[in-house]
Parts: sequence; structure tokens; C-alpha cells
Amino acid sequence: MALERYREKRHFDKTPEPPPADVTSAKDAPLRFCVQRHHARRLHYDLRLEVDGVLKSWAVPKGPTLDPKEKRLAVHVEDHPIEYGDFEGTIPAGNYGAGSVLLWDRGTYELLGDVSAEKQLERGDFKFRLHGEKLMGEFALVKIKGSRKDSKGNEWLLIKKPDFAAKPGWDSENDLRSV
Ligand code: MN
Repeated sequence: MALERYREKRHFDKTPEPPPADVTSAKDAPLRFCVQRHHARRLHYDLRLEVDGVLKSWAVPKGPTLDPKEKRLAVHVEDHPIEYGDFEGTIPAGNYGAGSVLLWDRGTYELLGDVSAEKQLERGDFKFRLHGEKLMGEFALVKIKGSRKDSKGNEWLLIKKPDFAAKPGWDSENDLRSV
């Protein structure tokens, strides 16, 4: 069960976060993505991309950027249910991820390259094009090989490709609107 870890970490009678439901999306529906600014014990942004009916998720401590010269650490975390992509609110103290969640960006994405999303994740090189309200254009998530021993192999880099949407010096903290 892809969402077991998501379920294990949470008490759904104590957090406003959604329990996994049976959400099926139309086969040809565009793939969704979202970014949540999560002001937990440590501020970070959660990037989530729909793959096979769940949201594959990475926690990005410094937030995503449109600056192609920046490489942002992105820690691969547990899959989240699709409906989490609409979640915004406060996770009460004492619960996993306690703090405020702001829906910072959302939209659709296209998978790039000629192999499936699973293959790209497996090989640690996931290429995609975002159509969000704030994030646009091509990005890659690249797994860091031989990263720190205590990292459990979860460390990736989020990289903006140089294209029409690239903006040197751009910082996610300069636009804190909820979408
Ligand atoms: Mn988070």
C-alpha cells in the first residue's frame, strides 16, 4: 500500500489533513502538482507530483526556485494522497508535521523524456515541465549519489532548467500568496 506510511504517521481524528480516500482520476486527465509552504518546526516547502494515483513528495528546505544556478536540496518523503493537493490549514501541536500549511502553488505538469515516471524515479533522474501559477517551465529532480550515510538515500536536488521561465535571483519567500 503506497499510502501506508502516510496513514501511520497521522491520527485523523486529531489533524485536519485528509485521510486517504479512493480517488480515481480519469486516465487522460492532466497530471497534477502542488507546492505547500509548511511552517513546521523547520520551515520548508513540500513539492508533490502526481504519479500513479498518489502524490510523490519531496521536502525542500530552501524552497523551489526559478534560478537555474541554484540547486535546492529536496528530501524524498512518503507518498501523500491526491486530495492532499488541496490541503491548507493548521496541523495542531503534538501531531506529525505540526504547524501551518499554505497552498503556495498548484497546477499541472508534463513528464519529459521517453521513459515512465516509475523508471525515472528508480534511476534518480525525474524530468518534468510545470504549469503552475508561480512555477513554470522545465525542472529536474536528481538523486544525490553517495550522499551522507545518515541521509538514507533520500536526498535529491531540485534544479530549474534554463528556459523561458528562468529568473535569476528569484526567491519563493518573496511571494507568500496562497493560490
Ligand atoms: Mn512538510
